[in-house]
Amino acid sequence: MDELFDITGKVSVITGGAGILCSEMARGLGKKGSKIAILDLNEEQAKAVAEEITSHGGTAIAVKADVLDKNSLEKARDVVLQTYGEVDILINGAGGNKKEATTSDTFEFFDIPPEAIQWVFNLNLLGTVLTTQVFGEVMAKRGEGVIINISSMASLRPLTRVIGYSTAKAAINNFTAWMAVHFNLNYSKNIRVNALAPGFFLTDQNRFLLTDEATGEPTKRGRQIMDHTPMGRYGVPEDLIGTLIWLVSDASQFVNGIVVPIDGGFAAYSGV
Ligand code: NAD
Repeated sequence: MDELFDITGKVSVITGGAGILCSEMARGLGKKGSKIAILDLNEEQAKAVAEEITSHGGTAIAVKADVLDKNSLEKARDVVLQTYGEVDILINGAGGNKKEATTSDTFEFFDIPPEAIQWVFNLNLLGTVLTTQVFGEVMAKRGEGVIINISSMASLRPLTRVIGYSTAKAAINNFTAWMAVHFNLNYSKNIRVNALAPGFFLTDQNRFLLTDEATGEPTKRGRQIMDHTPMGRYGVPEDLIGTLIWLVSDASQFVNGIVVPIDGGFAAYSGV
């Protein structure tokens, strides 16, 4: 059984790997013996994550990269190939939301500036497409690879307020299926593309929506989420790791083009 989930020596490239969820994914893959490349705009934090992994006996490098700049991604790809010689796993983790693309009691949908929607679409969708072009080409040439896109529960059950984010993550789901088919029909039957859709994880991206900045108490929205999560808690980054290892390993060798919710039952619950 262990063989099915074995990723020893596989090279994993993780964008947004310095962030809260993806740094945990990097640690999880590192513990399973994968060689990690953390790509992030935040070089200092990426280095800290890489050092933490190596201090625990793993193998990791930090590479500064901007997922919105193809040239920067190509430079990062060259560093990864020079260091490890291969790319087996790509995790498109860089993503997020912006207050200016989020409605509130005092900020109407009609007033959202186009730049804010554009910003959220660029970071979540375009960043994933560009990174898949650069690292997916390496996989296409070799005829092998696994890609994991990071979607969100907001893509499956559009959430109030986060209009830019919900629509951009829905586009990620469509892209995941599209890319899975495209690789198989045009390049190799041994390339898979799937996505994770995390539910509610309390992180920097959504803290302003879920907890009151002044008091730290849950907002009305935070309480609503809890009331609609049958498992009764927010996710913690560690909750993602088991599903991630399954999807990047041979354990899921015939799973392709899907989006897996990790949400404590949120999507399953009608509230009644
Ligand atoms: P985070 O803000 O902690 O991490 C995001 C990382 O991406 C940061 O390290 C940031 O420096 C990096 N980044 C931002 N722009 C970049 C760019 N242009 N190029 C390279 N790196 C860039 O976010 P997180 O909460 O850990 O979220 C990680 C992923 O999970 C995102 O795609 C997010 O949308 C998704 N997600 C988060 C939640 C949640 O509850 N936090 C839920 C569902 C999905």
